[in-house]
Amino acid sequence: MTSSHLAHDFRNFPYWWDSAGIEFEAHSGDSPAALPGRAEVAIIGAGYTGLSAALTLARAGREVVLLDAEMPGFGCSSRNGGLVGPSFHKLGLTGLVARHGVRKAHAILSESMDALEFLYAFIEAESIECGLQRTGRFRGADRRGHYEEMAKEIDGFKRAVGLEADMVPRHEQHAEIGSDAYYGGVVYHQDGHLHPGLYVAGLVERVRAAGVKIVGNAAVTGMRQDSGDQVLAIGDRQLVANQVLVATNGYTPRALPYFRRRVIPLRSAIITTAPLKQDLMRELSPKGRGFGGTSRLVIYYRPSPDGTRMVFGGRAFHQDDRPAAYTNDLYAEMIGIFPQLNGVKITHGWSGTVAYTFDHAPHIGSHEGVFYAMGYCGSGVGRATYFGRKVALKMIGDPEGKTSLDDLAFETRPFYTGTPWFLPLIIRWHAFRDAR
Ligand SMILES: Cc1cc2nc3c(=O)[nH]c(=O)nc-3n(C[C@H](O)[C@H](O)[C@H](O)COP(=O)(O)OP(=O)(O)OC[C@H]3O[C@@H](n4cnc5c(N)ncnc54)[C@H](O)[C@@H]3O)c2cc1C
Repeated sequence: MTSSHLAHDFRNFPYWWDSAGIEFEAHSGDSPAALPGRAEVAIIGAGYTGLSAALTLARAGREVVLLDAEMPGFGCSSRNGGLVGPSFHKLGLTGLVARHGVRKAHAILSESMDALEFLYAFIEAESIECGLQRTGRFRGADRRGHYEEMAKEIDGFKRAVGLEADMVPRHEQHAEIGSDAYYGGVVYHQDGHLHPGLYVAGLVERVRAAGVKIVGNAAVTGMRQDSGDQVLAIGDRQLVANQVLVATNGYTPRALPYFRRRVIPLRSAIITTAPLKQDLMRELSPKGRGFGGTSRLVIYYRPSPDGTRMVFGGRAFHQDDRPAAYTNDLYAEMIGIFPQLNGVKITHGWSGTVAYTFDHAPHIGSHEGVFYAMGYCGSGVGRATYFGRKVALKMIGDPEGKTSLDDLAFETRPFYTGTPWFLPLIIRWHAFRDAR
């Protein structure tokens, strides 16, 4: 594949930023000049986590200042694929049971289901128009053996937490996907997808209406404690807060070393096709479902909210933003699954950094009086909204803030400072294993 697959007006930023009439720039926050000197609560990072927390805190009567280094939603929250699901723990049922025992493993998994249902209920209650649809998701088996493994795993999830899912044998998969690339698969009925940009814009609107001061272009450059308060440096400005929440996920800066040492930023990228014929879209996704596979290197894809394009994402091989490389790689992946798309143009390609953790679990809690929620391991649309609310409840001392993840140690590794030099090697190794 060459750059000839890029549309002449190709854009190296999220399709969500200029699709469906969204005016993302309108939400760029107040200027740093508007920064107050004091706040009851300061939140660092205005993605889904920070916004969800801010809403809960403001409605509980707290005076909140929400800071973002860029514009609100600039990070993953306006860059993701918009796929929503229970986001089960990366270790799976067996891995979780081995690590935590049956009781705890089931508690973690059922809270994943709760988080998803919370997201559906929350968006409806807030009347956020973001194209949320419970379409279900088809996950194809990339190897013959994966089908049987998935069937076993699904059986376990059904018995443990009542997951609604059905296996689809290979000879029936065309009812789900216009592809022969898979050896059958599973349909997760509770999954869905939304328009990430409209969701973040809707959240910004609700948060503003609740009285939160949102300040964009306000990068926190330092943090220290002083007589029980937290003092944030924002360039040469200072903000003193009674409470601070760190909600920076895969964008956690050097200025917050404790947190930076505990998340592994991993680049994920997406391409979007030009509008396709309706018949072709119906062939690719007959039921409008989202999709994924079982390979180690995650891929995810879905129809655009208006059902006219395919939005296709996966891991990038480089840690920095290299659109020429990932648009090529993703295009090749896409036509491997959908040969029908060979020759279609790509109108958008972009990337962002998700946050992995050393134990593959999200983390929520407080460290030396500073609250945090982060580490969604690439599945954070539902989790960030849910854990953002939970951490806010913890901050106001509400027992409803309790979660099944509270007692997990937030691990780091010796000599790890937040620059994952080892990732390219691991990614190449996974690609090699996938290819065998
Ligand atoms: C390409 C891609 C595809 C994805 N697809 C999916 C998907 O389909 N489904 C799913 O569930 N999840 C997906 N995710 C993951 C999901 O988007 C994230 O887990 C989620 O958005 C995390 O939200 P957050 O608010 O915690 O972090 P973010 O939205 O990343 O927000 C962090 C914010 O912190 C700000 N910040 C950083 N440093 C500072 C500082 N010093 N001072 C002030 N602010 C600062 C950043 O500017 C940023 O806006 C995807 C992610 C990417 C990148």
